[in-house]
Parts: sequence; C-alpha cells; structure tokens
Amino acid sequence: MVGAGVSSSYEPVIGLEIHVQLKTRTKMFCGCPAEFGAPPNTNVCPVCLGLPGALPVVNRSAIELAVQTALALGCDVHNRSVFARKNYFYPDLPKGYQISQYDRPLATGGVVELPAKDGSGVRRIRLRRLHVEEDSGKSIHDRFVEQTAVDLNRAGVPLIEIVTEPDFSVASQAREFLDRLKRMLEYLGVSDCNMEEGSLRVDANVSVRPAGSDELSTKTEVKNMNSFSQLEKALESEVARHVAVVNSGGVIEHQTMLWDPARGEARPMRGKEEAHDYRYFPEPDLPVLELADDAVAAAAGTLPEMPQEKLERLVRQYGLPAYDAEVLTSTHELADYFEAVARLTSDPKLASNWVMVEVLAVANERGSSISDLGLEPERLAELIAMVADGDLSHALARQVLSGMVESGTSAEDVINTEGLRLIKDSDELERWVAETQAENPAEVERYRAGEVKLLAFFIGQVMRRSKGKADPERLRRILEKSLGSDPSEDSAMPDTG
Ligand code: ADP
Ligand code: MG
Ligand code: ZN
Repeated sequence: MVGAGVSSSYEPVIGLEIHVQLKTRTKMFCGCPAEFGAPPNTNVCPVCLGLPGALPVVNRSAIELAVQTALALGCDVHNRSVFARKNYFYPDLPKGYQISQYDRPLATGGVVELPAKDGSGVRRIRLRRLHVEEDSGKSIHDRFVEQTAVDLNRAGVPLIEIVTEPDFSVASQAREFLDRLKRMLEYLGVSDCNMEEGSLRVDANVSVRPAGSDELSTKTEVKNMNSFSQLEKALESEVARHVAVVNSGGVIEHQTMLWDPARGEARPMRGKEEAHDYRYFPEPDLPVLELADDAVAAAAGTLPEMPQEKLERLVRQYGLPAYDAEVLTSTHELADYFEAVARLTSDPKLASNWVMVEVLAVANERGSSISDLGLEPERLAELIAMVADGDLSHALARQVLSGMVESGTSAEDVINTEGLRLIKDSDELERWVAETQAENPAEVERYRAGEVKLLAFFIGQVMRRSKGKADPERLRRILEKSLGSDPSEDSAMPDTG
C-alpha cells in the first residue's frame, strides 16, 4: 500500500457488537410474553415495569439458547457468570438500569472463519465475549406530532450481545461476517433474526490507522443498525470521514453516531460514554449464574450441524460444486429439502440444479417458502428421473413443475391432464423441421455455408412450433440430417469433385 496515494495508506479497523433477541416464549426475568407486535404496553408486569419490590427470576430457556450459541461460535462457556446493573436514565428503561453482564460474562473467546471468496485462505474473526442481557423498551418518535411515546412491551426481552475483536479491515468483511452469523443463528434456531422487527441489531465501531500499524486509533460507534447493506454503507462513509479528518490534520472525537440513510452520512448522537459512566455493579437481586460442566456438555451434544459443516459435507457426500453447496445451505430448510430429493435420485448434481434453480425460482415467483410449495421431495425426484431418462425435455419439465405446484399433483398427472408428453414421432418432427426450413431459407443457406451454430436457432424455432414438446434429442438428429443432406450441398462444392 505504501506510496499508493494518501487515502489508501490508511487501513480501516472495525469491530462489531451484535444484539440478538432470543426466541423464548417469555421475557428474561419475568413471565410476560416476549412476542413482537402486541398492542403497546400490554406485555408488562411489575418486574419489567420496575415497580418497587418486584424481583427478577432468570429465564432458563434464554440461558440455554445463549449457551448453545456460545458453543456453536466456539466460545468458552463459564461455569460461573455474574449479572450486573448498567445504570443510566432513559424514558424506555423504567428501572433506571439494565440487567446485563459485565466483568464476568457467560462466555468469552471464540472464532468465526470467513473463507476468502477466491478460495485463498481464511480470515479469522475473533470473538471477545458473549453475554446475556435484557432489552430496553421502545421510544416512539414518529407516531404523535411533537411527542414521544413509550412502549414497554420490549422491556425485559432476552438478548445476547456478541462482541468481536477489531478484526475487520474492510466494511464488506463486516457484512460477510454478519451474513454468516445470521445464518448460524437461524440454523441454531435461537432467534428469528427478523431484522425489520429489530431481532438482530448491530453497533459498528470504526477507526482508521496507518497501514501496517498495529496501534488502535480513536473510534466512533455507529449505533443500532438493522440492515447489513446500510451498515456497510455507514462503515464506508465513516472510514472516508476519518481519513479526511486525519489527512486535514484534525482529530477524531470518540463519539456515538447515528446513520442517516437518506443523507448517506453518520451524525453524532452523543459523546461516547465510558464503562465507568454506567456505574456497573453486580446485580444484588440475582444469584451468580452457575452452569455445571455436564449441562454445558449436554448442550454441546445437541448442537445441529452448522452451515459451514453442512456445506463441506454436501460437497464431499454428493460431489457438488462449492457454489451449489453455498446456495443450498443458505437455509437449513433448503439443504434438508435438497438432501431429501438427492437421496431419491441417482444424479445429485441434477437434483441440485432442479432445487437451487427451478424450485427456488418457483418459490420466489410465488413469494413462498419451499415447504409452502407443497412439492414433496418424492414428486420432484420422479420429475427429475423423467428428465434423466429422456422422457421429458428440460423445458417441458419446467412446465410440468409449475403444473405440479399449481395443482398439488404428481408429474404423471400433470403430463396426462395437460398433454405435456414429449413428441418423439418422426413424421411430426420432420414436418415441423420442413416447415421451419421453408420459412427460414436465408438461415438454411448460412448453415450450409458452414455456420453450424445456427442449429440452435432451428432447434429453438421447432421447439416454439411444438410448444416445447419436441423431443430435443430426436429433433437434433432430424435437423442435422435434413440441413446437411440437401442436394444443393454437392453442387455448391464443385472444386472438391
Ligand atoms: P467501548 O468500551 O467503547 O464499548 P470496547 O473496547 O468495549 O469499546 O469495544 C467495543 C467494540 O469496539 C469491540 O467490538 C471492539 O472490537 C471494537 N473496537 C475497540 N477499539 C476499536 C478501535 N480503535 N477501532 C475499531 N473498533 C474498535
Ligand atoms: Mg460498547
Ligand atoms: Zn414482565
């Protein structure tokens, strides 16, 4: 990078803090429903309202989900961790403090690996910690004119916070990490990861330093991003701003920023508070959180296969290209579906093509999930077998597939009711070929003059004439014969005679 211009002689340093809402039925310290979307201030009780004398009780299920996540991320889960009060005033924080964890978090360490897109090695993103805490309520600024409303339904909902080391040196890596983390959380089933509803929110810390330096410069923190693409933009914008400030001899202030997507810039929200501002102390209303080794081991034993493991296994077991495995493991639902189909077919790559291209296209068209399509793996496998056996062309099979989804019946039924059988009858194929040639004399001539790639044009024309039903193999043979065996061919090459 040396000498490559002023701006490229700085390198970005980025660290993330990710808040994930856990998928529990009830809140972190009380029995109120943790669901999203109830009428304002209906999921509340003395505990989450912070009424005098109300005492918190730890939600076991939240701890289990947090432990699973920590284990899946390779963190050390500690036998003893401590809840702590983080004191600050906010209208949506009725107790005047948030119960979190501070110097004794549930878990520390851990790594997420980001394989380089071009296969050139792996970047290791180290995790600093994973702790459990409760969410605050919500201040609503856009509902009433010049008034702020407070909804406490979210107050006390269980969260985990995952903190990375400042190991990212490009904004796009941060995004890639978040995509991977989200996929892992979805596989684990610990959160619905619904970004619109705020189940996954990210604070991004950013600074820049001279390339090659290993010192950390003053950072700014962009708060509460719930869109990964906006987060990437916010980071790029902040990096550019930091570089500009430093280049002009200025100093970056340690600030908390709010991203304004409309203006494409981060605005300072407040001066950055430090840990000591929060007057953390151990939560006196809760005991130390104790987790026995065998409980942790038992949780480790129940972890599902994680996306990367699944991806590698699909490549190994079915001989799929990495690209296919990547697409198929985007959700475990899709991967499970693929495997169910692949087990029933003799050609896993063909099964992969059908699942990741055609089935996904139908699902996207209808805006529905794979399971909502009602397309049993057995039925898709039957269709694929017909293609493999040459009983259906690819084009025809696509029509059959949409008929199957439409009607909820088998390929056989759709073929019968819609007459989608391949036409193999030579007389009929020859008639179409003759008609097509008669209509396209110029192309026939060009083909015969050596432009053999026009065969695809003729196949396309006959296919259209046959509404996609012509048997492609037979058609190709008939076309080649008929185009090549014209009597004029001999007279066109007098020299060779
Ligand atoms: P704070 O006390 O301001 O919250 P922490 O040291 O707890 O800061 O770190 C919070 C997050 O910021 C972590 O993800 C960490 O990796 C990241 N971070 C810390 N220092 C820097 C820096 N100089 N530049 C970029 N990110 C940083
Ligand atoms: Mg912080
Ligand atoms: Zn409550």
